Amino acid sequence: MTADRDPRTDLKGMTLPEMESFFTRWGKERYRARQVSRWVYRKYVEDFDMMTDLSREFRGVLSEVCRISASGAERVEVSADGTEKYLFRLGDGESVESVLIPDEDRRTLCISSQVGCALACGFCATGAMGFRRNMTSAEIIHQACFAARRLAGRGELLSNVVFMGMGEPLRNAAEVSRAIEILLSQYGFVLPGKRVTVSTAGILPEMAAMAERFPVSFAVSVNAPRDEIRSLLMPVNRKYPLRELIAAMRRIPLQSGRKVTAEYVLLQGVNDAPGDAEALARLLQGARIKVNLIPFNPHEEAAYRAPSREAVDRFRTVLLSAGIQTITRERRGGDIRAACGQLRAACGGKRG
Ligand code: SAH
Repeated sequence: MTADRDPRTDLKGMTLPEMESFFTRWGKERYRARQVSRWVYRKYVEDFDMMTDLSREFRGVLSEVCRISASGAERVEVSADGTEKYLFRLGDGESVESVLIPDEDRRTLCISSQVGCALACGFCATGAMGFRRNMTSAEIIHQACFAARRLAGRGELLSNVVFMGMGEPLRNAAEVSRAIEILLSQYGFVLPGKRVTVSTAGILPEMAAMAERFPVSFAVSVNAPRDEIRSLLMPVNRKYPLRELIAAMRRIPLQSGRKVTAEYVLLQGVNDAPGDAEALARLLQGARIKVNLIPFNPHEEAAYRAPSREAVDRFRTVLLSAGIQTITRERRGGDIRAACGQLRAACGGKRG
């Protein structure tokens, strides 16, 4: 691949204001930005020659100075349940995965924000591969362009985007913010904030800043009701312990009727006892927080075991009787290793 050595300016990943200042600095008309951004983010076009409202001459000039990066999906896998997994090869040979989850009238895309992850949560396959690098806004938004174009081809619309793929989005807040702006904007994907979810292990200063800036939804990986267990599972807990985490979740500004999601990975014999559910209920009491239970999805990198069906149901019942809205996340795409925590695209395309 030569994409990373291409000297032309990549327009993909730029917000509209960024494109406007690019065009005006270049001595072109400001409105060019609006024209081009529509093609890139609403029509998912990657070739200037398809931008039919631009003169042939201007298209020629554009393609000498600019490009629209497009790391094609190197592999597309389709699960028996309709879930799709895409493997993208990036310009420097790294790769990441995204998962499209169709569910009734929703088409939810789970996207990656980093190649690997530095947080080293003990149950997560991405964590096991370590941190390789941050993704650029171009690479992040490309996942949505690719999926939206594929959906458009069959008359469907991308309805939700969740930052629950590889990486910790709030450890790459600058590039993730650019992508979010494009997802929410009129010139972009026009997604309502409630349909864009940032999932975080709890990087608190960045979480507060992101919540100030964008009306997006938040999901926080709580995963344990006590610091001893949480620190064991998630080293980041030593920096931002549970009490501060829950307090920060309670401070997220919410529109009426909305809640913050607490994600909770259930690991057999580790955090799935009824006492754990009671402790979690006490932590969340009175907060506008709902719980998303995620039965552990096994993979080679982790020695944990999935909870029994009974343990999951019992856990949920305890929370429900404490008045806490709780759902169990259905496992999707398990046959193509697309389920939560199973994404692990390694350099060279080898799988662990
Ligand atoms: N770094 C972000 C987003 C990626 S993980 C975060 O921590 O939220 C998305 C969700 O998958 C998190 O709630 C995480 O706890 C969960 N998860 C990770 N590995 C898992 C596994 N093997 N089985 C089930 N859920 C897992």
